[in-house]
Amino acid sequence: MEQRMLRPYAKPEHHTVLIVGGGPAGLALAVVLGGWHPFYRESALFESRHPQLAAYLRRHPGSLLALDFPALVRTGVSPVDLFRLLHHPSQRFQGLDQIGLDFRPAEPLDYLLLSREPAGGLWNNVPANLLTLSPGHWMELAFYPLAQYAAETDRPFDMNALICKRDLIDYYHRIPERFGQTTRMRTDEEVIRIEPDAKGFLVTSRQMQTGEERRYTSRSLLYAVGQRCILRRLNVPGEDLPFVTNQYDRPEDFPGERVAVIGGGRSSDWAATELYDAGKQVSYVMRQNEEHHWRLISDSRDGLPYYARMADIIESRDRRFETLYGSHVRQIDGGTTGGRVLVSHNGHARTLDVDHVVIEIGGIVDYSPFQGFPPLQLVEKYDNYRFQCHQMRVHPHNYESIDIPNLYPGGYLAEGMGLVVIAMHGTTYAIAGDILRKEGCLR
Ligand SMILES: Cc1cc2nc3c(=O)[nH]c(=O)nc-3n(C[C@H](O)[C@H](O)[C@H](O)COP(=O)(O)OP(=O)(O)OC[C@H]3O[C@@H](n4cnc5c(N)ncnc54)[C@H](O)[C@@H]3O)c2cc1C
Repeated sequence: MEQRMLRPYAKPEHHTVLIVGGGPAGLALAVVLGGWHPFYRESALFESRHPQLAAYLRRHPGSLLALDFPALVRTGVSPVDLFRLLHHPSQRFQGLDQIGLDFRPAEPLDYLLLSREPAGGLWNNVPANLLTLSPGHWMELAFYPLAQYAAETDRPFDMNALICKRDLIDYYHRIPERFGQTTRMRTDEEVIRIEPDAKGFLVTSRQMQTGEERRYTSRSLLYAVGQRCILRRLNVPGEDLPFVTNQYDRPEDFPGERVAVIGGGRSSDWAATELYDAGKQVSYVMRQNEEHHWRLISDSRDGLPYYARMADIIESRDRRFETLYGSHVRQIDGGTTGGRVLVSHNGHARTLDVDHVVIEIGGIVDYSPFQGFPPLQLVEKYDNYRFQCHQMRVHPHNYESIDIPNLYPGGYLAEGMGLVVIAMHGTTYAIAGDILRKEGCLR
């Protein structure tokens, strides 16, 4: 069947660069390669905080993509940090003039972006009301400050407040059109294989609606698939029953009273809290022990209102919210509208009667599409917020894989990057500069 969907003799479509993944990492590189280049703009805040960098950049009137990144690294400045400081000289937003970057139109490079979802990546699928961990302006891409978006769309945001998923995804969705890149982005397309080719990379994708396979070649490739390519499974009987889901969106999707939430990280904390506040009877099943969970709650309750709320709920000891620490789900059974979750709770068997089960146990980066290359060296990264992923070993000046030339991991798939947008966005510019230099497009 799959064979029939592939047009066997169709010549692969060639592009100079292929970008896999349309989240904040892939989207950012797309716009820069698509012809929006950064230049240094004097900012009083940046200059007061980083006078030596400001003096260095003042001597560089051209595109910052042409900076000598290896030389910068030798002086102890990593490109990701340089662009983060230019973009966010202060963690607090005070005004657009604090940003030490100006983006000007330039000749576009031929690229194509392929992604399963529309622009914005995993933000398309997180719960409808989810608030970020970070202030809104930490989630923005440097060429399109949230404040500029707010002004253009007449939406009054507090840039220093957490931003809700609904607003954030609208912001990301606007970017392709706002920057003239829509024709270079194909969504609903999943990359299933990446192989070596005389031209560089041979990429096979599958159209998600029709199953049609398509082939592409490129000289360079950005792999920006994020940390949730494959959602983890419990691997217990009954996990695929109709009342069990790993896609929590909002409480209205859960008619009935009793919900078991299985997890223990940010996403399950959000779901458990929101379902409780919507009046549900919540059984929160976690593998971790109480102390481990409370470390996260205590670290977060002062800065994040939804953690303050979770702390209040647990401390209230309301019988409508039960925490089952040290628990393992053994089996789920039942019919179409509900059933039972069999749990081993601190070594004792428990049965929970439920209308719904929400499983939120995170996801993993999928490196399996790479076939026929030397093995990728991966390092594990964890952060204080319980995010984790495997990152690719890279060269520090251009974020190119040390194992596969012309392959660039997008955003925090590169070794050492923090697992949030503000910490990884700056890699975009060294990657774009490296590609443009290789293509002879930078003087
Ligand atoms: C619940 C939650 C809350 C978070 N809160 C914050 C926060 O407050 N602040 C913050 O900075 N970060 C937060 N993050 C981290 C988040 O990962 C980043 O904000 C950001 O989305 C990462 O961008 P990305 O482009 O690397 O990956 P993603 O946003 O994951 O985008 C990758 C895209 O690639 C697609 N893709 C994957 N595999 C393939 C394939 N084989 N073929 C084609 N397309 C593919 C994916 O479907 C997705 O659309 C949060 C993450 C989660 C899960």
